[in-house]
Parts: sequence; C-alpha cells; structure tokens
Amino acid sequence: MLSVASAGQAYERAGVPWPGGQITYFNGAADQAWAVAQAVNAWNRSGARVRFVRTTEAHAQLRIVPFRSGKCYAGADATTGYVRGATIRVSRYHPTVTECGPYTTAIALTHELGHVLGLGHEPRTCATMNASGSFRGPTRCPQTKPWEWHCRLLQEDDVRGAVALYGGSVRPIGRQRGCELYRAIASPAQARATVDAVARTVALTFGRPSSPRIPAFLLRGQRGMESFLYARGRDACPGAPRNPHERHGWQTAPGEVEQVVERLPAAGRYCYAVWAYDEYGRPSARASTAWLDAT
Ligand SMILES: [Zn+2]
Repeated sequence: MLSVASAGQAYERAGVPWPGGQITYFNGAADQAWAVAQAVNAWNRSGARVRFVRTTEAHAQLRIVPFRSGKCYAGADATTGYVRGATIRVSRYHPTVTECGPYTTAIALTHELGHVLGLGHEPRTCATMNASGSFRGPTRCPQTKPWEWHCRLLQEDDVRGAVALYGGSVRPIGRQRGCELYRAIASPAQARATVDAVARTVALTFGRPSSPRIPAFLLRGQRGMESFLYARGRDACPGAPRNPHERHGWQTAPGEVEQVVERLPAAGRYCYAVWAYDEYGRPSARASTAWLDAT
C-alpha cells in the first residue's frame, strides 16, 4: 500500500499508529523464531517510542503466522497500522531456498513490522521499507557482498518514519551493513618459489586448503569448482586478486601440495601471491606469498 509523503521526508506513512507505545505479539511461526526475534529486536532498539512485546496467542494484538499453504513461499505480508486482528504471514523455513531462509526472512519480517507500525513502501532511498530486496539488502540500499547478508535490519529512513509516528529519536545505526554467512576459505599453505636455473623456470608450490562449509542456499544450482589464482609483482606483492577469470582448477586434493611452473622472469626481485577460491567464487581473505630473486 502506498501513500504520498509531504516534502522533506522520504518514508511513507500508510496507517494509523498504535496507541500506548506497545504492540503485543504472538509468534505462531516457530520455524522462523530466529528471524522474528531479529526483526523485533531491530525495531525495539531503533529509538522510536514503540515496542513489540511477546505474549500468548489469546492476548496478542499482532499474530505472526505461516502462510496457509504451509510451504516455502517467497515473501511475507502484513496488515497496515493499528487494526483489530493485525497479522503478519510468513513463509515456512526452508534450508536451501534463499527466500525462505532465516536471513531473507529476518529482513522481510522487519519490513512487515514496519507496515504493522503504520509505514508504507519507500521507493526513493535506501530503506527496509523498499518494496523489494533480498538477503543482500533492500533494493535501494548498497548491496552486500554475495557471501554476506544485509544484517543492518533498519535504515535511518525507516526509523525516521517510526519516530514521526511514535516519537523518540533515531539511534545511531552502525556502519556495518553486511555480516558474513560463512568463514572464508583459508589461504593456500606455505607458498614457495624455486628456480630451476637449467630449465629457466620457476616452480611455485603451495598447499590446497580444506573446503569451507557454505550454506546450501547460496550454492543452489550454481556450484562451481574450487580454484586458485596466482599473480606476480615486481619488488612488491600483488595486493588484491585481479582477473578472477584466470583462476586454475586444483590438480591436487585438499591438504596436498599444488605446483605450477612458469618461465623465469627477467632479472629482478619478485613476489608471488596465491589466493584460494571456494566453490561459490569467494577468494581467501589473504594471499599466501613467496619471494623470488631472479638472476
Ligand atoms: Zn511491503
């Protein structure tokens, strides 16, 4: 539901605010309890003078329930503002479908609670009240890296909207937008560069790291191969992996030593840097490096 905002404010008001500064709720979607808690905490800490308070089903002003189909169903919906029988409907949890996982659901529920508070969709600036988004963020917000979720659940615009309805003040919102969904693959182990003066080649050796545990929903349908990328810098180590298309598939198993051989470069001092990539295409946080004196 949309409404027109007056000049100077971005958030959209769409419903009647609740009286008393408190909204009691019951969560009937037990499989999404984590996401519900995240969304409730985000609003309760926002600085707006309104709180969601958990209670029994019989006493709740707001009921959070699964969609009647009982299936994983992308999205959630909610009633708007202060109404009798206020309801949020949410998807069933599903471990391999992004839209039904805990991260997207936490963002979706924060959005739906915004509707319950009386906020409409915000089409212009970065806000959790943007009409759409994904686990990487609402559509108008800077998106997180593909291996992070947008854990900053409320944006300043959302809270300004709630403060306009309920009073209070916008608490400072942390700079951190993204939270890692899993730990990055380790750097390749013990890189070494060895010259073969007769063949005029350099043998670069390094250990293949073990595979990280990547959440299943990230990999659906696009599972790649683990790989590595190496680069050479003169008098300095290459700082960041460039040209990821130049990645190589491993010839060895995790824990074993990989070797690549290249032509000996012109005389000088060189640094080789090697990054490991996981099957989702995420590089190790750091490179493993090895120096070479070519004469
Ligand atoms: Zn909406």
